Amino acid sequence: MRKENNDRMGWEENVRKVTPYVPGEQPENKKVIKLNTNECPYPPAPGIRKLAGSIDYSRLRLYPDTEAKRLSEALCGYYHIMPEQLFTGIGSDDVLAMSFLTFFNSGKPVLFPDITYSFYDVWAGLFRIPYQQKKLDEKFRIVKEDYMTENGGIVIPNPNAPTGVLEGVDVLEEIVAANPGSVVIIDEAYVDFGGESCLKLIDRYENLLVVRTFSKSRAMAGLRIGFAMGSPKLIHYLKDAKFSFNSYTMNMLSVELGAEAVRDEKYFQDTIKKIVATRERVKKELLGMGFVFPDSKGNFIFAAHPEVPAKKIFEELKVRGIYVRYWEKPRIDNYLRITVGTDEEMDILINNLRSIMKNKPE
Ligand SMILES: *Cc1c(COP(=O)(O)O)cnc(C)c1O
Repeated sequence: MRKENNDRMGWEENVRKVTPYVPGEQPENKKVIKLNTNECPYPPAPGIRKLAGSIDYSRLRLYPDTEAKRLSEALCGYYHIMPEQLFTGIGSDDVLAMSFLTFFNSGKPVLFPDITYSFYDVWAGLFRIPYQQKKLDEKFRIVKEDYMTENGGIVIPNPNAPTGVLEGVDVLEEIVAANPGSVVIIDEAYVDFGGESCLKLIDRYENLLVVRTFSKSRAMAGLRIGFAMGSPKLIHYLKDAKFSFNSYTMNMLSVELGAEAVRDEKYFQDTIKKIVATRERVKKELLGMGFVFPDSKGNFIFAAHPEVPAKKIFEELKVRGIYVRYWEKPRIDNYLRITVGTDEEMDILINNLRSIMKNKPE
């Protein structure tokens, strides 16, 4: 017994120990109103269903195209960029992780906000990259001067998650311009819901990488499609790292169906319009109930109630079959992140919040 234990101690010392990211729950019960992971409440474009049904299944025995050409062509056409400026991956999580691995090797700390996407510090931990979290101001805004000190790289989501706060492209450009010695990543997972993109800056700044995903605005979280746009030099280094890891990252179905999603511009715009209209309506309802929140430009609202603890509301909603997201973390432990669902789902949420507020749990 004792020896076995010692052996395990031996190898365990050399394990890469990490604290993994904790994703929002994916309940099996389909009746749950799921407002906890910022998925799109509407299905993907109708053409995808048709195409999915007509794909020749015998092609699945072949390896997929390493360059994800069909998807790349669609994206390059849509965003008016050259193929040398585009990198695709398995969701933006894959693209971001690969970017951390590729660009953050100076040994100097990488900078990102203290309240932000909780995967950044996990990747930094996984890759042994030192980092510093810069405190957002009391309105959850970025203090740009914080990002003008010596650093090994910068990551900023715009709009930020989970706050929904959007920064202007002018502020982000100042940060990019002030840091020619490091790569600046702007994570635009939610920019389609009303933000201005930094994409127009990639021709001017070699050190800027703009990262996007199909998981939120394009309703395809299940297919895992993400991409990055930047200077040909950045993209080249990113591809070298990726092809040293796994050459076949994007599967055949994601490539084909993702390309089809890009083709249906009208469906895309209509879906976004619906979500934005619902978001604005829900903001008014929440204000009426006494909730406070920073103005969100994402498909979610980060709300607190001055009288009822967020944790209580979170638990009460869960009992009632409505899942939202809650973090027991400093500065945000009285906030709930509520994904914007369909109008019907949000009406049920609002009714339940009203009934919870009436009883005012302590
Ligand atoms: C959802 C999200 C991602 C990851 O999306 P993928 O599904 O991996 O494409 C990345 N960044 C932020 C800020 C997100 O909220």
